[in-house]
Amino acid sequence: MLKLDNHLSGRHFLHIPGPSPVPSRILRSISYQTIDHRGPEFGAFGLKVLDGIKKIFKTEQPVIIYSASGTGSWEGALVNVLSPGDKVLFYETGHFANLWRALAKRLGIEVEVVGKAGQDTWRWGVDASVIEERLRKDTQHGIKAVCVVHNETSTGMTSNIAAVRKAIDDAKHPALLLVDSVSGLGSADYCHDAWGADVTVSGSQKGLMLPPGIGFNALSPKAIEASKHSKIAKAYWAWDEILESNKTGYWPTTPSTNLMYGLHEALDMMQTEGLDKIFARHQRLAEACRRAVAAWGLENQCLDPNAYSPVLTAIVVPEGMDADVLRKHALEKFNLSLGTGLGKLKGKIFRIGHLGDCNELSLMAALSGVEMSLGAMGYKPKASGVVAAQDYLK
Ligand SMILES: *Cc1c(COP(=O)(O)O)cnc(C)c1O
Repeated sequence: MLKLDNHLSGRHFLHIPGPSPVPSRILRSISYQTIDHRGPEFGAFGLKVLDGIKKIFKTEQPVIIYSASGTGSWEGALVNVLSPGDKVLFYETGHFANLWRALAKRLGIEVEVVGKAGQDTWRWGVDASVIEERLRKDTQHGIKAVCVVHNETSTGMTSNIAAVRKAIDDAKHPALLLVDSVSGLGSADYCHDAWGADVTVSGSQKGLMLPPGIGFNALSPKAIEASKHSKIAKAYWAWDEILESNKTGYWPTTPSTNLMYGLHEALDMMQTEGLDKIFARHQRLAEACRRAVAAWGLENQCLDPNAYSPVLTAIVVPEGMDADVLRKHALEKFNLSLGTGLGKLKGKIFRIGHLGDCNELSLMAALSGVEMSLGAMGYKPKASGVVAAQDYLK
């Protein structure tokens, strides 16, 4: 037996911004016996899951389900619609935008990074006017796609995807809109069709409350058309064979049968609670968390109130404090797991995830653990963040 569970009594408070805690209902469903993925039962099950996931993306178009992490699904999006040497615009919002861009580069795609001049782009949401301006200059339409991260998990910022679509349209540019909503989907409102995304990339381990291991590409008719002319070599990631098999509820290769059981259960749970209620719950918890941060006298990494994330809050630690030492304390003393600072923010911030299967009391526990850990670091908060959050939530 792997000793993954440490010796601490009580439950583990997993408050990183993904993977998020997996509800026991989902864990139980994943433990059902694996069945024949070519058998008669599986086709009906597959069709049900393929239909259910569309409602989460708010799309009428097909959604590809890969056995892969979010990163694999990033690759799937790019290799299906682009050709070697194609130019793609990436708006830099943080570490995940950079990782996606680095992956594109490895695929032989020419990347261009944009961001608002004079602004720390890791603290503000996407400024769509920057994209519009750049596309207007591209009179030859050399730019084939615009890539943006809906919810930037490294900085706690949610960007306005409809505004990016409008910017592309206002510039009268044919570029495809590729969106990463790995951590946004299921926690922050997302409308694949209404917002005009061409490919939306997502994963299982964030708002969908599943373990890591399955990823998604939601498609548009324009993306499917582009995939017919794309020249990047692809086999496993190719949409055509998957779409063909999916018509009858099957996959060309063995799908993650047991994770699909979990997805089926998650879809049921989400439909029962209702997407609007889920999004409102995330907004409420995020606001409570921000009130705690303000009471502590600390700064939110996100300086843009329009971009505050309902999924997580990234908190800047005071000068001289190492955020990873604080995190280590929270884990060892309180069995509380907080998100680390990624890329250039290492040691400077920590992140509190309040996504997925999270409620008022689970957030209060996390805030309490943070408050005690701040105290242990010798920091004297302005006021109690726990009380401030309670005052808001009650
Ligand atoms: C978690 C995450 C990913 C990466 O997914 P993996 O499953 O780790 O490959 C990509 N983008 C964002 C915004 C994420 O939060």
